[in-house]
Amino acid sequence: MFGNLKTQPADKILMLMQLFKDDPRPTKIDLGVGVYKNAKGETPIMRAVKAAEKQLWEQETSKSYVALAGDPGFADAMINLVLGNAVDRGNVSAAATPGGTGACRQAFEMARMANPDVRVFVSNPTWPNHLSILKHLGIETVTYRYFDNGTRGVDFEGMLEDLAQAKPGDLVLLHGCCHNPTGANLNLAQWQAVVDVLLKTGATPMIDIAYQGFGDGLEEDAAATRLVASSVPEMLIAASCSKNFGVYRERTGILMAVTADKGLSTLTQGTLAYLNRQNYSFPPDHGARLVTMILNDDALRADWAAELEEVRLSMLGLRQQLADELRKLTGSDQFGFIAQHRGMFSRLGVSPEVVSQLRDDHAIYAVGDSRINIAGLNKETVPALAKALHKCGV
Ligand code: PMP
Repeated sequence: MFGNLKTQPADKILMLMQLFKDDPRPTKIDLGVGVYKNAKGETPIMRAVKAAEKQLWEQETSKSYVALAGDPGFADAMINLVLGNAVDRGNVSAAATPGGTGACRQAFEMARMANPDVRVFVSNPTWPNHLSILKHLGIETVTYRYFDNGTRGVDFEGMLEDLAQAKPGDLVLLHGCCHNPTGANLNLAQWQAVVDVLLKTGATPMIDIAYQGFGDGLEEDAAATRLVASSVPEMLIAASCSKNFGVYRERTGILMAVTADKGLSTLTQGTLAYLNRQNYSFPPDHGARLVTMILNDDALRADWAAELEEVRLSMLGLRQQLADELRKLTGSDQFGFIAQHRGMFSRLGVSPEVVSQLRDDHAIYAVGDSRINIAGLNKETVPALAKALHKCGV
């Protein structure tokens, strides 16, 4: 039986991680995988997470199952973090999932349950795992224009034109902030124009928000999601706690369904619980519980928000430093966009040949589409990257 299996394509980013690991050069720099790293190259456990874990170890008396949709307290805390007061709590149903990836997977399945012919509109480019999950599920995707390789910003006109092709029953997947892989984002006025197109077409938006707090701040990064939620009749939100709480391996995420019609909440809540039951039954609890404890405790929450802000500002500093170094070397502002982009990533917009040259000649590992993880840099390695790029002729 197993002989019938086909070899599946390897994940390019995970392959790159292995190549980096095997590279003996001591000056090597990993700008590949999307994990936050501090100046020492470590991915530390956040202080508030460690403190919550200690409390949990002392207080937890059972590891029995919690609930199919996870702890309702986690849902309340996350709905509050992501949506604030944008919509009434009664209009939101939610279920904990294994990471933001689990939330995306459940969202696509739920959309297909509601409409077997659903098409999912995805930005060009988008996080590759969106595409691979959709392909695995056999769901049709429609690409909309997003990244403009000339300006390294958003091709906004193209995006609106393509989104106007959506129809009721389609799902339009948008990144709430810190677009992965490009780092190029819409401003709020542009989000309003997207909302107008969504309302005109009747398509249902799905927002994937995996980096709240990594861009312009916790509230600022949620503003687009809140705007959409308060404007459209229905939407899905897949939120990840992996990055902003640094709980990657705990697999902590949540899928929310917002419905203007409160009567639909029972149906969507039941569907979310049903989907969890079919795919893995009870979702992981440990990370979700830590997140809930942090968000519900003033001192822990303040410490978490302060540490997250340090992370955000350090990435902004590195962006500015890299843009400045490249301006000095090239005598032009063609890389000024690096300081304008937000989140952990920037797509440099250089050719695959330059990406290979960076790896072969300079031991600098970027993803093939020229996405770099800004957090893979530090003050000392920024000049090395700038010099290497310049040597590659950019
Ligand atoms: N969406 C996007 C856009 C992401 O970049 C990620 C993380 N790479 C996720 C979702 C989900 O991450 P996780 O499953 O680790 O929470």
